[in-house]
Amino acid sequence: MNAADDKTIVREYFNSTGFDRWKRIYGDGEVNKVQLDIRNGHQQTVDTVIGWLKADNNLATLSICDAGCGVGSLSIPLAAEGAKVYASDISEKMVTEGKERALEALGSSENPTFAVQDLESLSGSYHTVICLDVLIHYPQDKADEMISHLCSLAQSRLILSFAPKTCALTLLKKIGSFFPGPSKTTRAYLHREADVIKILETNGFAVQRKSLTKTRFYFSRLLEATRV
Ligand code: SAM
Repeated sequence: MNAADDKTIVREYFNSTGFDRWKRIYGDGEVNKVQLDIRNGHQQTVDTVIGWLKADNNLATLSICDAGCGVGSLSIPLAAEGAKVYASDISEKMVTEGKERALEALGSSENPTFAVQDLESLSGSYHTVICLDVLIHYPQDKADEMISHLCSLAQSRLILSFAPKTCALTLLKKIGSFFPGPSKTTRAYLHREADVIKILETNGFAVQRKSLTKTRFYFSRLLEATRV
């Protein structure tokens, strides 16, 4: 399968069965045990990012690009902290849901700004670019291109997460739970940390902070890299 196919499949998935599934996981309603585990794991990743940014004490001065923002799980709390957030996602349904959640949580539709856009076509310049749990949908060569593009948008910092290849065996065992039943239409790609760091370094970035979220069904390596 080539990368274009991956992207088409991912877009269709997150506009159909994937939307229904992930909207629930990224919500607070009732879900099954596996989904609850993934919800909690993902929330830990989001909380880690927010913790890092808050610790710098300059969040309200930052422009942030949240590439592949989903339903706004990160964008909305960052906007609530005063950051100027540009949130985009390839899935129209995810973006529509994100807009509704932002309006409900913040009482305004001004910030974050939401757009339906794949991250490859993003332009502009942001203090910090963030891309959480998106690379899992793409093979390494495509991920390399995506990371390079995200680096070009970041004035100062790129924060990204991916499913680390070291957890491969465990993850592969659970993969059926990741995309069960009829929504088994996307596959999960794992990435070697060394490969991700290499492409960041090639683009003039160095890793500053790292974190690993690991629950039963959710694995995510988080890296913060800054321009050197
Ligand atoms: N980053 C969000 C979060 O952590 O809450 C959502 C993560 S969700 C697992 C993956 C998201 O990436 C989906 O909303 C999907 O539509 C989006 N996505 C996948 N490929 C993309 C691409 N090429 N450009 C932009 N968004 C993409």
